[in-house]
Amino acid sequence: MAVMATPAREVSVFGDAIAYFKEAADLLELDAGMRRILTSPARQIIFAIPFQRDSGEFEVYTGYRVQFSFARGPAKGGIRYHPGVTLDEVTALAFWMTWKCAVVDLPFGGGKGGVTCDPSTLSMNEIERITRRYAAELVEVVGPDKDVPAPDVNTTPQIMAWFMDTYSMHVRQNQPGVVTGKPLEIGGSRGRVEATGRGVTICALDEMSEIGLQPEKATVAIQGFGNVGKYAAKLFEERGCRVVGISDVTGAYYNQEGIYVSGAMAHVAQFGTLEGFKGGDKITNAELLASPCDVLVPAALEKVFTAETAAKVQAKLIVEGANGPTTPEADRIFREKGIVVIPDIMANAGGVTVSYFEWVQDRMGYFWKESEVNQRLEEFLLANLHEIRAIGNARGATLRTSAYTLAIDRVVKALKMRGIYA
Ligand code: GLU
Repeated sequence: MAVMATPAREVSVFGDAIAYFKEAADLLELDAGMRRILTSPARQIIFAIPFQRDSGEFEVYTGYRVQFSFARGPAKGGIRYHPGVTLDEVTALAFWMTWKCAVVDLPFGGGKGGVTCDPSTLSMNEIERITRRYAAELVEVVGPDKDVPAPDVNTTPQIMAWFMDTYSMHVRQNQPGVVTGKPLEIGGSRGRVEATGRGVTICALDEMSEIGLQPEKATVAIQGFGNVGKYAAKLFEERGCRVVGISDVTGAYYNQEGIYVSGAMAHVAQFGTLEGFKGGDKITNAELLASPCDVLVPAALEKVFTAETAAKVQAKLIVEGANGPTTPEADRIFREKGIVVIPDIMANAGGVTVSYFEWVQDRMGYFWKESEVNQRLEEFLLANLHEIRAIGNARGATLRTSAYTLAIDRVVKALKMRGIYA
């Protein structure tokens, strides 16, 4: 188990994340020492994951877990399986989790993990072996009161079940609270699968009413049709909005009359991707981002909005379902164009909020009705979104800077109360 530190480079994802932090830190007039503490990951772990392919051949992948902060509680954040996973990316994502948990006032720090791999080239058995080895490597440092992983890009409730089982076998007792996003049968929460998409629509609809956009007259385009994008699409449709564009790795699909979201979901359930979907005209992902719509939801990966793509955006409101989709240059362009952005740490916090509810339910051994989960989710999100808006109005700041300001202030208060143990 190697432990190392990453320097923040200008071009890195973590570098971009630091730029947003700095703006809010300036507003809070944080001193240099506090900034140093808040931008240093508490622990970064890199390890080899040797495993056997179904063919019998041995392969070695690299696994990561970054525990960025424990100031407000155990580290919390997903595990990503993707070819683009690097220490820099996982560190940035763990940094964002710290602010995301704080912005919705959850008693968690921030963490994130990943394995550099392409799951589309792996069988279920291979994914199970990788997951169990990944979990076994982390046995000493994860746990319900240490660090609680969850799903992220390409990881599923089944993968969480294998993680939970491996950990429980090692510690010789059932420990459902070591991970969230589990299947219902083994301690998952009702409403967790849809929670991130639901949170996106809750935040979007609240902001739409703020800027005078009526749902029945609004058009929405969504980039990404995974766990976040597809449920967001479905819920926007349920609330009367017209979903005009959707996309996945195979391309984008646009229909001015409205895409029938359940049809798109059924297509993906049958064929695995949107390839061949006939409910809209096929366009490129870049065209989707520039397409006519009122609300645009990036729900895929980082750095989707650059100076180039941001300049072409026609939407009035951007709701960041993905983590880190907007580079600081793009953010400046949105500001100049008067496009309102609900930042990732607020817009996609619905997932981790219901993860928190799952962790609470696991500890109680008593499970809530879905309506109860959804109602509490809405309360957590809206109370904090309204607080962010009030900060923005008082300070003349964007929602992003206001969200960071609220989150950083909460973490700083916790750190100061605990003091630095040295
Ligand atoms: N991976 C999700 C996120 O980026 C959820 C994390 C969690 O539930 O811990 O927010």
